[in-house]
Amino acid sequence: MDSEVHVLGDGCAAMMLAARANELGSTTLSIVRPDAAPEPKDHMLGFWATPGLESAARNARFSWSTWSVISDDAKAELVCEDQPYHVMHKTSFLERCRASAVSHGVRFIDEKTHAAGHPQSVFDTRPPRPPENAMLQHFVGLEVEVDHPVFDVSTAVLMDFRVDQSQGMHFMYVLPFSTTTALVESTMFTPQTMPREFYLEAIEAYLFTHHNATIKSILREEQGVIPMGTLAPHDPAIPGLGANGGAIRPASGYTFAFIHQQIQSALVRRQNGHGLKFKRPHKRVDVWMDGVLLTVLRHWPHYAPRLFTRMAQSLSGEEFIRFMTGKASWRLRFKVMRAMPKVPFIRGVSKWMFSRPRRVVQ
Ligand SMILES: Cc1cc2nc3c(=O)[nH]c(=O)nc-3n(C[C@H](O)[C@H](O)[C@H](O)COP(=O)(O)OP(=O)(O)OC[C@H]3O[C@@H](n4cnc5c(N)ncnc54)[C@H](O)[C@@H]3O)c2cc1C
Repeated sequence: MDSEVHVLGDGCAAMMLAARANELGSTTLSIVRPDAAPEPKDHMLGFWATPGLESAARNARFSWSTWSVISDDAKAELVCEDQPYHVMHKTSFLERCRASAVSHGVRFIDEKTHAAGHPQSVFDTRPPRPPENAMLQHFVGLEVEVDHPVFDVSTAVLMDFRVDQSQGMHFMYVLPFSTTTALVESTMFTPQTMPREFYLEAIEAYLFTHHNATIKSILREEQGVIPMGTLAPHDPAIPGLGANGGAIRPASGYTFAFIHQQIQSALVRRQNGHGLKFKRPHKRVDVWMDGVLLTVLRHWPHYAPRLFTRMAQSLSGEEFIRFMTGKASWRLRFKVMRAMPKVPFIRGVSKWMFSRPRRVVQ
């Protein structure tokens, strides 16, 4: 089955596929750098070291077997020694993928060369289009050095809600790299982004209030806006891959593990003699549950601290990972549902049914 495949974009999904081009049989793969692509920016990519991500985990910058979710009146601490939470720099991941891709003969071309070619298939990894007024996960993170040792390097704080909740759901994501250095990210789930000062002041206030620490130096900064919910493809005429192929988990923003699942199943199908095709790596029920959760967070964000701590408290570390990576059984889904406060979810289900956004921003 000789064929030529072009992939538009050279981010995570395109490069993860390119690094495995040797598994595509006789297919020739070209990665197309779009003319309109912005300058690449580095950021941390977090993931649990689930099966298939061993190589990414080996090259990660740091890992934690314990992670926590904290609110004013509750704290959940979860542990999984077998599949710790890892973070790596996106740019170093992309560089490693590129080296591997080059060794497998992948071509890196521009749009002009792409347009002059005759590929049998084209896949698009350019960003998907969010519906109007979509919920956004938006954040600014500072990698800081503080004035005295305060961080607990044994634990990654996935969500600490002890911050200003007046503008919508807001939490700190804290990845400690030493007792004095950490990535501290002020993160919100709301339809509107905030001015940069809001996140920076929130980080400073959080460090002072909860760690009695002040920032000595800022080592790095990252920021992002990730649309949540069901997103339309960048170009409906071209099949998508990665975030543009439905890989973003609608209510979490975690994408890396799902891109891996999407590519892994495409390669298995390909090796079984089928054409190359990338399917959305989420089950319908998980997308539905995320849709209801997003509705609750949009309309009643004050429930968020209770909701996330209750969910985390009800699960073991291993169950939490299975839920977050789309591997939950029905038993586990019911366990999560039982742990949630009931009133917001009943309201969320009815509101979700009548208010799903449909229009897409062009
Ligand atoms: C700051 C930040 C932190 C994140 N942290 C995590 C995390 O911890 N864990 C996790 O799982 N996910 C995380 N994500 C999400 C994750 O990085 C993305 O979902 C992932 O990169 C998706 O891969 P992709 O290949 O689909 O898209 P990308 O890697 O974004 O690649 C998109 C491609 O399209 C190109 N492109 C972009 N805009 C245009 C345009 N206008 N026109 C043409 N081409 C364009 C880009 O140059 C690139 O080649 C984070 C995202 C950000 C921004």
